[in-house]
Amino acid sequence: MKVYLEGEAIRAICETCNSRQEATFRYDSIKMEDGLVIDGVMQAFCNNCGSSLVIAPQSTPKIRQARTKVSKKTSFRLPRILADIASCVVAKAGARYVDRAPEFLYKASLSSLLDEDPQQLEKLSQKLIAVKSNELLKLPGNHKVTVSLNPVLYEKAKLLQEATQCSQSELFRVILVAAGAEPGLDSPKYLRRSVALLDSAPPRKTPRRSRKASVLEKVSS
Ligand SMILES: [Zn+2]
Repeated sequence: MKVYLEGEAIRAICETCNSRQEATFRYDSIKMEDGLVIDGVMQAFCNNCGSSLVIAPQSTPKIRQARTKVSKKTSFRLPRILADIASCVVAKAGARYVDRAPEFLYKASLSSLLDEDPQQLEKLSQKLIAVKSNELLKLPGNHKVTVSLNPVLYEKAKLLQEATQCSQSELFRVILVAAGAEPGLDSPKYLRRSVALLDSAPPRKTPRRSRKASVLEKVSS
């Protein structure tokens, strides 16, 4: 690996100047395409226009690490029934801990989108658009969920937002509805069954359930 020192000059193509220019290396922050800003990256800047032309090889591990580490936290409000449905779907899939089911389902759906596959994006978008008018989405958002997405999933969420014409929080709710959308999700019978399933599930040792249990004990004693 060639290591570049500060002040070292190279010649490189500058797209801004539309010609080959001399560029000089120095440490500076860099703004990635997904908006992520990383400090202290060795880059060569065009001596003519100042554009960043080349990233020194020694800085690439730092960029890779920053991209996977940094995650964006967002809080969503959703009808509690959607969180319950998410728990059912996740429990049915064999998950032991269901307290973060909405976040899990959201990320699982976003991850299912492979990079640069327009057909798959189209297919998932259509599935989501189809449930946009679901009655569950009209219920009051009385349950708060915090989700952290890495830049890759964040980008996928943005793609889906565009394709489905959903706001960020609308997309979150729509994905949960679609994830639980087996035939007859709209019917109250299905919902009753879902809730019954959740209630009759063997006690799970998650913090949320044990908290609930202790509250019930206090009430009954
Ligand atoms: Zn230039």
